[in-house]
Amino acid sequence: MSDTPVEKPVNFIRNIIDADLAENKHDSIHTRFPPEPNGYLHIGHAKSICLNFGLAQDYKGQCNLRFDDTNPTKEDMEYVESIKKDVQWLGFDWSGDICYSSNYFDKFYQYAMELIDKGLAYVCFLNAEETREYRGTLKEAGKNSPYRDTTPEENRALFEKMKAGEFEEGKCVLRAKIDMASPVMCMRDPALYRIRFAHHHQTGDAWCIYPMYDFAHCISDAIEGITHSLCTLEFQDNRRLYDWFLDHLEDFNKPDRPHQYEFSRLNLEYTMMSKRKLHQLVDDKLVEGWDDPRMPTISGMRRRGYSPASIRDFAERVGISKVDSMTDMAILEAAVRDDLNVNAPRTMGVIDPIKVIIENYPENGSIETIDAPVHPQNESMGTRQIHFGREIYIDRADFEEVKPNKKFQRLAIDKEVRLRNAYIINGTRCDKDADGNITTIYATYDPDTLGKNPEDGRKVKGVIHFVEASKAVPAEFRLYDRLFTVENPAKEDDFEAVLNPNSLEIKHGFVEPALTQATPEQGYQFEREGYFCRDNKADTLVFNKTVGLREVWNK
Ligand code: ATP
Ligand code: MG
Repeated sequence: MSDTPVEKPVNFIRNIIDADLAENKHDSIHTRFPPEPNGYLHIGHAKSICLNFGLAQDYKGQCNLRFDDTNPTKEDMEYVESIKKDVQWLGFDWSGDICYSSNYFDKFYQYAMELIDKGLAYVCFLNAEETREYRGTLKEAGKNSPYRDTTPEENRALFEKMKAGEFEEGKCVLRAKIDMASPVMCMRDPALYRIRFAHHHQTGDAWCIYPMYDFAHCISDAIEGITHSLCTLEFQDNRRLYDWFLDHLEDFNKPDRPHQYEFSRLNLEYTMMSKRKLHQLVDDKLVEGWDDPRMPTISGMRRRGYSPASIRDFAERVGISKVDSMTDMAILEAAVRDDLNVNAPRTMGVIDPIKVIIENYPENGSIETIDAPVHPQNESMGTRQIHFGREIYIDRADFEEVKPNKKFQRLAIDKEVRLRNAYIINGTRCDKDADGNITTIYATYDPDTLGKNPEDGRKVKGVIHFVEASKAVPAEFRLYDRLFTVENPAKEDDFEAVLNPNSLEIKHGFVEPALTQATPEQGYQFEREGYFCRDNKADTLVFNKTVGLREVWNK
């Protein structure tokens, strides 16, 4: 048994766990992460993963991965596989075997029979419309179903018939007999089982009745010995039902049975967390897939270059509370940037290239090799070799024919600039095409100014990046902006109407030759441009922009 580790911020859930352990309610804690395999995981799920698996780690307890697979029509093995992969990538591992709610279908059935035998559940033949009418409203109590007072024997036989497939879909449901006048709507005789003639990815065609979430979840928790069942705030009312089921089943009505606690869900600005809506973006081909780097999915963020450590750090920064709010995207990006700033090797890439010819450099085709630091603040990361020669590429935005103002620190005609890790050059002239676009820049270099630091006493403030032209390797750059133009797209009637049409910009430029060996997903800082990683899907050399160097919401 251990206390809350000091370095972790206290939150109300940790307080509850500390108190439970102090009272010896449990020997150790056991949490679970219970995704429904009906889509890919998003950053909201990451918060829940970090909470559940993180608590288990910190308290030396256990955390199960449980697929909450009670709704066969929406679920698929593709999602099961992606969820396993995402949890592991985030740096967590589940205790024991993977759990499936569907493993407990026999038990759920027996527990439903127990409730029937106790006169606490009945088969109801009201149709959907009648059921709605009988339920009442927040202001008005509901009415008892005419099927409510049938005997346990009758209900047992009816439920067996439901299981045997003798009723058509929608004909009847099994309901708990609780209180049709309860102020909490979910206590008004909620459904426990419905009929679905659907193939299930784990149980095949063995079942044609499937349990409802509220019934299945608490029992799954109890079977697995979960101590603290953490879920989001919209399940607050359902906690009554959670407790009611466990209180009325002999196997579980014990002091160490699980308890449910709710925390606020993560909402992120300029994106959305609803799996259904994310599904729609994928199905309507408005993004490249679930792992499109603009998606708020774990696989999308991974492809974008976010590291698992930065996502865990983000979860820590937003913390756990009971207050629903929108989280500023800048908080996520700051966590990503802070991680990359320390860990990303530096390199140079020219995203919008224009050629510069160094007129006083030998014309014999000679290329020189220069050692440049991999990380300016971390010598232990070593050096890399870059090249310099008569022809180089710089970024179009780093040259103006006429220096536009005093603040301009880049290259212009008759204005010197330092090339990062190399020489000072001075602009001499430029060629233009028929439309007046600059096509080639000419410059001279000062051979006495080679050095990675501006220590040569020359008053040249501006530093720009470059790549030597003959060694440069062509690369595609994918620059991302927020996916939506409004802070809370989920609130819109038609969220597709507020998609940002400029959320992806593709550029073709050049990178240092060593980057042909870049490992996909490994973050690099392209000096002065931002953090990028090599795309994990493309066959060619493609770099996804992860995040800018500073917090700027462009546009
Ligand atoms: P959706 O409503 O979009 O389908 P969900 O909550 O139903 O999402 P599940 O697969 O059931 O998705 O979620 C698994 C776990 O992740 C649940 O415990 C749920 O509370 C948690 N979770 C889902 N979304 C968020 C979120 N935005 N913030 C924090 N936790 C979340
Ligand atoms: Mg859910």
